[in-house]
Amino acid sequence: MVSDARQSTRLSGLPAAPGVAVAPAWRYVDDAARPHGPSMEPSGDPRTALEESGREAARQLDVLAERLREAGRADEAEILGAQALMATDQTLIGAAVDRVRAGQDLRAAIVAAAAASAETIAAVDDPLLAARAADVRDVGARIARILSGSALDLPTVPSIAVASDLPPSVTAEVPKGRLVGIALEGGSPTAHAAILARGLGIPAVVGVAGLIGALEHELAAGGAPFEVALDGDRGEVVLRPGADVRVELATRAAAALLRRNRAAPLRGRPGATADGEPVALLANIGTPDEADRALASGAEGVGLFRTEFLFMGRHAAPSEEAQVEAYRAVFEVFGSERQVVVRLADIGGDKAIPYLDLPAEANPFLGVRAIRIARRSPELLLTQLRAISRAGALAGVQPHVMAPMIATHEDVALFLALRDEAQASLAAESLPHAPRLVCGIMIEVPSAVFLARELAREVEFFSIGTNDLTQYLFAADRTNPELTRYHDALHPAVLRAIAEIVAAAHASAIPVAVCGELAGDPAGALVLVGLGVDELSADAGSLDDVRFALAGVTRSELDELARSGLAAGDAATVRRLAGEVCERALARAAVTEAPG
Ligand code: PEP
Ligand code: MG
Repeated sequence: MVSDARQSTRLSGLPAAPGVAVAPAWRYVDDAARPHGPSMEPSGDPRTALEESGREAARQLDVLAERLREAGRADEAEILGAQALMATDQTLIGAAVDRVRAGQDLRAAIVAAAAASAETIAAVDDPLLAARAADVRDVGARIARILSGSALDLPTVPSIAVASDLPPSVTAEVPKGRLVGIALEGGSPTAHAAILARGLGIPAVVGVAGLIGALEHELAAGGAPFEVALDGDRGEVVLRPGADVRVELATRAAAALLRRNRAAPLRGRPGATADGEPVALLANIGTPDEADRALASGAEGVGLFRTEFLFMGRHAAPSEEAQVEAYRAVFEVFGSERQVVVRLADIGGDKAIPYLDLPAEANPFLGVRAIRIARRSPELLLTQLRAISRAGALAGVQPHVMAPMIATHEDVALFLALRDEAQASLAAESLPHAPRLVCGIMIEVPSAVFLARELAREVEFFSIGTNDLTQYLFAADRTNPELTRYHDALHPAVLRAIAEIVAAAHASAIPVAVCGELAGDPAGALVLVGLGVDELSADAGSLDDVRFALAGVTRSELDELARSGLAAGDAATVRRLAGEVCERALARAAVTEAPG
């Protein structure tokens, strides 16, 4: 933390969503963490009061889910939908009623019941549900607010949220235009708060160590309100920025706006470097609803369709027919000329699917996740492969399918055997299906990096999952905010792994894509292309910037960037080098593309 003479406090975190903002701070505090006001004695039956408030919370969450769905954020909408179910859950309400009968006031009772349920979920129950713990707490806080007749203390002017964490339900509730930046002490660039911020185009910095302490200090020292400046490209947060910081950020904001406006005309063109080397730019999507937005952003296809979202927030797996419709919808948006890569459900880790009855595990990220589930329940992926093949036939396209978490040859063999079985069963039933599924694998487990040369002979493409590859290379849980220092995929250790994967893929003449979050970071994208990656797949909202940066840089500059990145000693050095090349590229592309 650095304080200058004018009392500005500069903090650094991780860039999570691009753009800059200067606006008053809006401190969001989880209601469950607030000291409680005057006690609320139930005037009637506590169960009735809690049930009514639970229903109102569910109604609010459904409205917010719809808002997110309309904004093309179907995966976060699913989370809110699941929260709406929690709000009327009789076990939760019953636990709160018991607490009221034991003497607690209504509001404290629901907050405590939700906290206890969250603790149970996180610690004892199925660890795959751990990610839901924060969602339950958030539901408890919402019901408590409804009980006390108080609303969320939303910003009244365009503001920057400063918080430990920001649940998707809160982000969705802030009226459009009032949330212009997000600074979080917790979180990571791959956490939901960050993914949602990127999707909504709100600049964000996460993992800002000391943020809340510094905020408290500023409030105590200078009173409220005060402003915050934030740079989501560089991962900087400045509390009470002085005139110099404002000018610096305003200049950067103007440049970014100019760049975005200038980037828009490039949208219709395929990704390529300044000297014409093609780099396919594809979109990551989580649900069929996102396909139209992805196509409108100029995506040349879908490089990662995270199908596990189809399995979440439900009571049972979607039927084969429902899946056929979901895949077909995406295939039809992109047609037969643009590839759509459907990833088999990556269930496990932090993605909870309660109805699958998976066993409790001490380390879910190291457990029965993704392709590993097929050994226990082959029918899950078999049904999915059948649905993908049938959807391909109906839409008249050749589907690409990839398996996540491949660690060994046996994993590849399992995947390909399931593919063969799915195709054979469809043929036996005379059901129309794609004549062939193009099969690839995700490289995101370190063992696969070392096996990449042989694995490349067994499949038709690689897609590197830099989110997991980074987590597994550094043995640092990607959801643990205390470990954000290990989460930067631009670390030379990760780059060296990527270089090896690229060499292995190219030795067998198969293409290699990157579909982790690094592909959507313009500076990161330049490093990846420098390393020889053929395709980048990222959130649709990032594609303009990546396309624009690529248009301003030549192959030899990228080769040089990759060389110095591989030789660097730490991630910060690579970020600085890549940031410099990226800024030059953007400025150059802006001149090249300027009208007239
Ligand atoms: C990755 O691990 O980089 C990836 C793209 O997959 P996910 O984030 O869904 O695990
Ligand atoms: Mg992954």
